Amino acid sequence: MSRIRCHRCGSPLPAGSAKYQVAVRVRSVFDGVLPESSDEPELAKIIKEVSNCSEEELNRQVCEDDIFIMCPVCKEAFLDDIYSHLHPEAAPEMGRAHLIH
Ligand SMILES: [Zn+2]
Repeated sequence: MSRIRCHRCGSPLPAGSAKYQVAVRVRSVFDGVLPESSDEPELAKIIKEVSNCSEEELNRQVCEDDIFIMCPVCKEAFLDDIYSHLHPEAAPEMGRAHLIH
């Protein structure tokens, strides 16, 4: 008996059934530019916020990876949701076309 269930809807995914591994990879993007600021109170505020974060929270702000198993319906719904929210003026060099092999 398969114990695999869809992470999104909970449907059982028995051996031999169609299922998908959906990997979510999130990385902080640094464009090489540091904002100019002589606003020391703002800097102190940022340092205080960072010092109150756990190592795990700080790591999640830089990179985060998750893997989900989904049934075909949920895989399509997941992708439709993401792509339906893409802004038409989003930077094309960061777009989906570069992720398709
Ligand atoms: Zn599902």
